[in-house]
Amino acid sequence: MIVMKFGGSSVANAERINSVISILQTRIENNENISVVFSAFQSVTDSLIDIGNLALKRNAAYKSKLKTLTQLHFEAINELNYGRDISILQYKAESLFDELSEILHGVFLVKELTAKSLDYIVSFGERLSCTIITESMINRGIDCEYLNASQIIKTDNDFGKARVNFKLTNRNIKAYFKKHKMIQIVTGFISSTEENEITTLGRGGSDYTAAIIGASIDADAIEIWTDVDGILTADPRKVADAFSLKSVTYEEAMELSHFGAKVIYPPTMLPALDKKIKIIIKNTFNPEAAGTTIVEKSREQTTDSASDISNDSEEFFIKGISSIDNVSLIRVQGSGMIGVSGIASRLFTALALHKINIILITQASSEHSICLAVLPEHGEKSKAILKNEFRLELLDKIIGEISVEDNLSIIAVVGEKMRHSPGIAGKIFMALGDNAININAIAQGSSELNISLVINKDDLSKALNAIHSKILKRQ
Ligand code: ASP
Ligand code: MG
Repeated sequence: MIVMKFGGSSVANAERINSVISILQTRIENNENISVVFSAFQSVTDSLIDIGNLALKRNAAYKSKLKTLTQLHFEAINELNYGRDISILQYKAESLFDELSEILHGVFLVKELTAKSLDYIVSFGERLSCTIITESMINRGIDCEYLNASQIIKTDNDFGKARVNFKLTNRNIKAYFKKHKMIQIVTGFISSTEENEITTLGRGGSDYTAAIIGASIDADAIEIWTDVDGILTADPRKVADAFSLKSVTYEEAMELSHFGAKVIYPPTMLPALDKKIKIIIKNTFNPEAAGTTIVEKSREQTTDSASDISNDSEEFFIKGISSIDNVSLIRVQGSGMIGVSGIASRLFTALALHKINIILITQASSEHSICLAVLPEHGEKSKAILKNEFRLELLDKIIGEISVEDNLSIIAVVGEKMRHSPGIAGKIFMALGDNAININAIAQGSSELNISLVINKDDLSKALNAIHSKILKRQ
């Protein structure tokens, strides 16, 4: 069995849904055994949240927005089934919209929108998309069945981002799939508590649904269909030569997605990875492209040749270059800090207490200065917090200065094979040096998976392209 998942952009309108159905038809003709998870149509989840909040505020505009949403779905129904009988589908969609408008009316009346009712409201996105797709496929003579995954994926009652009860869920999924041999069209993102109240798995949760189901039924592969050719070496809007990788390791995927390449959110893939199920990222708009396979380990690290996951992680030392385009750098420096313990710990605690996320940390072994990168909106605030925390040290000149510098970017160069390979950092610095790009700070995690460089924002595009052309050549 292969579990395929199509996200919102793949089902944005009738035309796109038609291409998805053709992709599925090809697979069915090849006698492949598939199950397909779908998200809500593009931006429908956002609209539902918006409509819920308008109803809460007693803003009558919620009704017109609901009408627009209804029209959008009915347009898809009509276009997808042109010349065919839509009476069953029409009835099902109307029932869903009736239920939704009743709930919204309730929110409007009682002026209360709990996390629980919001989950219920957003669940209509996936229930509608999957109902429409299932019926439109049946109308084309394809045998398939609608599966509301909230009936089998069981969670706690942390509405909005519920935690899965895997024991119960796996048991349900196995039992369900044993009985249902037809192609399942599965609602992503939604789940339910043991009391059968609808919950959701967190935004973007359809990937997670696919991974949970795939892991539970020991799928041969999980395919995440999106709108790019897989995981790319760099953001193609910034680096013209960016290309898609045949394979990356799970850890590389984690690093790359952390720094902006948001093709998937890797933690959601964990259930599948734990079971060594192959994960392939594919492009709905270019189905012929091979896509990217996420493997467990790169070749030389793998000893288990019987592993289910192919070990053909590409021979590149570097898998990708990504960036966080706008950061501020806080610099705490002073000769009095040398050998004094506790400064770093106080610094991190003070910022953590104010919920400021630190993106990157560097301290040279001279201990003369500590640099931290934070989001620009936290720059001045962090400086003020630290000035307050270290006011005595500043008075005593143990700390000379706390400064903040804006308009900087972080470039992250990611690749597992950088480990044990000397010379990569040298090449990176040479690429920057040759282009007269100044480096403000450098950090390398001890995992050696990622080298991060802080540079001026103005140099970002030049730097990304220079590094890419120096160390990433298409095979
Ligand atoms: N429809 C949900 C969302 O937009 C889940 C998903 O797209 O994966 O967050
Ligand atoms: Mg989505």
